[in-house]
Amino acid sequence: MLFNALINSPVFKQVKQDIPEKLNHAYLFYSSDRLLNENIASLFCYAVLCDTNTPCFKCDNCRRIEMGRHPDLIVVDKPTLQVKDVENIIDQCILKPVFCDKKIIFIKNAHTMNEAAQNKLLKTLEEPNRNVIFVFSSDQLDRLLVTVQSRLKKIYVSLQNFDILEADFEKIGVSINVNDLDLTSIVEYSKNETYLNIVEKIKFVLKNLHNSSNIPKLSNDIVVSVEEKKLFLAIMYDYFSRTLKAKSGYKDREDDFVKDIGSQYSIDALIKILPIIQKAYYSLYRNVNFGYVVDNMLYEILKVRYLCK
Ligand SMILES: [Zn+2]
Repeated sequence: MLFNALINSPVFKQVKQDIPEKLNHAYLFYSSDRLLNENIASLFCYAVLCDTNTPCFKCDNCRRIEMGRHPDLIVVDKPTLQVKDVENIIDQCILKPVFCDKKIIFIKNAHTMNEAAQNKLLKTLEEPNRNVIFVFSSDQLDRLLVTVQSRLKKIYVSLQNFDILEADFEKIGVSINVNDLDLTSIVEYSKNETYLNIVEKIKFVLKNLHNSSNIPKLSNDIVVSVEEKKLFLAIMYDYFSRTLKAKSGYKDREDDFVKDIGSQYSIDALIKILPIIQKAYYSLYRNVNFGYVVDNMLYEILKVRYLCK
């Protein structure tokens, strides 16, 4: 999991400002992406209990959470939650925290509480215990009672295409501007025959990218029209960034080609390759010869592949 990238995401930075002084008694992390909600919510739990509130992943509290053995973090993850489950949870609130000054009840997929269970919990949310923080995650907001929602600090978990990558680019000294051309938006609108042809070409190139001596022939084989050159690089970028996302735990838009790239390139390699493709893409705007751009790009990708083995 690219926790570091998530720690650098604007949504996490924002919610972290509450720790420790401005903590609310209950939070709801929501969006249509279940895993993302859970990951950001989980990072938040780490940060609240961490000695340094970072989270650092090194202190005793962080390590206990990592091993799933922190007495002050109760994680509830059930397909359905009935009134008796909520009663159990409420009983836990009475016990004082052991290691920290706060105890967290983290309910994943909070919408799995049925209506009666939610009503049962409402009273606890209305009269919070100052030692206890509730953390909910949900990708189905409409299944949570409005009365419950009104008691929570709601955090919409959005992750722009570039949020996660931006942090990684920074690490290797490349800064990108989110307002620059969004390569993936080009791809979204062009899933036609041209798109499919280009994907086949990319597959062919990656399959045959074994040593630097066959690069000139490979780039020569990719004869695409003027309009398709940018598309070629944009689609390639899209595939590599989807692969990075998939390998980092976000399984959206994962297909066989994504899996195939994922089996050949490590996360480290993918992080290094994305700016290489992006650089190639931008150099087309400076009217650099396409063959030369692709040669260079493939050569650099090959280098990364060897270095990251
Ligand atoms: Zn820590």
